[in-house]
Amino acid sequence: MANFRTHITVAAAGGMLMAYAGWQAQWWPASQALLVIALVAFGGILPDIDADRSHSIRLIFNLLSVPSLVLGVLLLQPWLTPGMLLVACGGIYFCVRFLAAVLFSRLTVHRGIWHSLMAAGLCALVTSALSFQLFAQPAWLAWAHGVALLLGFVIHLGLDELFSVDLEGARLKRSFGTALKLGDGRRPLSNLLMMIAVLTLVPWVPPWSVLGDLLYQGSLLWR
Ligand SMILES: [Zn+2]
Repeated sequence: MANFRTHITVAAAGGMLMAYAGWQAQWWPASQALLVIALVAFGGILPDIDADRSHSIRLIFNLLSVPSLVLGVLLLQPWLTPGMLLVACGGIYFCVRFLAAVLFSRLTVHRGIWHSLMAAGLCALVTSALSFQLFAQPAWLAWAHGVALLLGFVIHLGLDELFSVDLEGARLKRSFGTALKLGDGRRPLSNLLMMIAVLTLVPWVPPWSVLGDLLYQGSLLWR
């Protein structure tokens, strides 16, 4: 299993590659490139969110607390006095930063459903839906954001799988096959729940034809 630093370094490198390719192809301006790199890097640490007390879980919930705070201010501003708003924001920050992290690590097992391709798909759809609906980004960019997160996620799973192979003797360690997988073979219920989550998101994502177009244009780049 690759460690935290390997994950974030390789994912960030992959992000730079994607950001550069898209910028060259004039898919996004240089300002978007930074966001793409950040999303790939974030995707690259996301699968280990379920490893209790890992670097990832702390960093991820730290990072998530910022957008939740912004969202909280935007939603609550019309209803509360400045003083109350401040208290509410403190509450939101505390909840995301500490309570959500504790809850999450209680409810999940490491290398369970969150360490799978299905989770990668779910997180990518969430990213695209948020970017499209909440931040009103054009469909093309919203899908690109989702794909960036997906790329980071897949890089992570691939790295873990790679590191489970003993390089010297080419002997497979016991963890082989636990990193890069479609779902969680031992817990059918979590697969089902995640499938339901994916389906609920479908109405919120940008038009699929745009994704098709993005992937088609992307495949042309590698010719
Ligand atoms: Zn991992």
